[in-house]
Amino acid sequence: MEVEGTVRRSEKARRGVELHPSRVAVLSRAEVPLPLGVVDKVGAELDTRLNHRVLDLRKPEVRAIFELRTSLLAGFRSAFRKRGFFEVETPKILRQGAEGGATLFAVDYFERRAYLAQSPQLYKQMLIGGGFERVFEIAPAFRAEPSDTVRHLTEFSSLDAEVGYVDDAEDLRRLIEELVSEALDETRRELTERENPFASRIPATTLPFPRISFAQCEEWLGRPGAEQDLGTEDEKTVGERAVAEHGNPFYFLTDFPTAVKAHTFYAKRKDDDPRLTGYFDLDYRGVEILSGGLREHRLDHLLKNLEAAGLSPDGFPGYLEAFRYGMPPHGGWAIGVERLVWVLAGLSNIREARLFPRDRYRLDP
Ligand code: ATP
Repeated sequence: MEVEGTVRRSEKARRGVELHPSRVAVLSRAEVPLPLGVVDKVGAELDTRLNHRVLDLRKPEVRAIFELRTSLLAGFRSAFRKRGFFEVETPKILRQGAEGGATLFAVDYFERRAYLAQSPQLYKQMLIGGGFERVFEIAPAFRAEPSDTVRHLTEFSSLDAEVGYVDDAEDLRRLIEELVSEALDETRRELTERENPFASRIPATTLPFPRISFAQCEEWLGRPGAEQDLGTEDEKTVGERAVAEHGNPFYFLTDFPTAVKAHTFYAKRKDDDPRLTGYFDLDYRGVEILSGGLREHRLDHLLKNLEAAGLSPDGFPGYLEAFRYGMPPHGGWAIGVERLVWVLAGLSNIREARLFPRDRYRLDP
């Protein structure tokens, strides 16, 4: 519709003003009935909403999620740029995945088989070899996740960063908490200005975020020394305990054991205790939103890790070449953008944080 008229103050109107039309024109006629009410008070099922996503997106409360997402990404971009990061784009069609394995989507690539990138991991490390000291990328990552959960998508947006000349995981964590805190401050400011209903949900961050060791998590979970990865329920249990004890919704889980990261061949094992990696997660109230750590930059160690993970160096010629001509110590991390939007906005399902989500069953619209 196109409406011309006079705006008048009104006590009765919800926003304090009313439009008194003098001319109304129909720009485009809608078919009736609508498959999905756009002003209904009764909520439709998520599946129905996603089947008719274009109509669903017209609802102010749905639109507000993407306003939040826009502000958040702008906040991160500006925090990265302020610190000298280059924004990069790495290939999403690969000859081999970062870790090999079952979560790769295969694609026909002319006479060959190729795969959709699970993560920009290997390429962002290669860029460090290319002399780009600090890089970040916000791009799709593809995971053939057969599980149907509220926290996994098969296509999600990964906010990845890699930093050269770092040999202490603590330096990475300090950088991360600064970036997250700055991006959230910016987001809160913008959303408040726009009267976005999620503004009040963006927490004012308190630094530093608590550091909780993996060994401490295992004790809380009643399985000390088990060296078993944290499942969804474990993360929740650890989250309740961490928030209760430290009073911060954000907290790092540090020092993941090598046994848990066995497939992560590029993760550096600690020199003084090779049973541990410098790997860590950042969680928000029981949900993992980030994972990162120091990478192995020494070719001989890297080759040993590859072998231990049961992978052949022949699969990674371009990656390994990057380590042959000088590679500084480095490290980095990845944030799942939808995970962060999902937890910040308090949505019931991660699918709501992506415009047109993809999962095991959904390829349309
Ligand atoms: P999880 O254990 O939760 O399945 P992961 O260990 O496979 O995640 P990473 O490979 O470390 O995750 O990916 C980094 C970040 O990307 C995660 O912290 C998460 O925020 C996000 N992420 C990973 N897989 C998915 C997915 N399938 N859908 C949405 N976000 C994801």
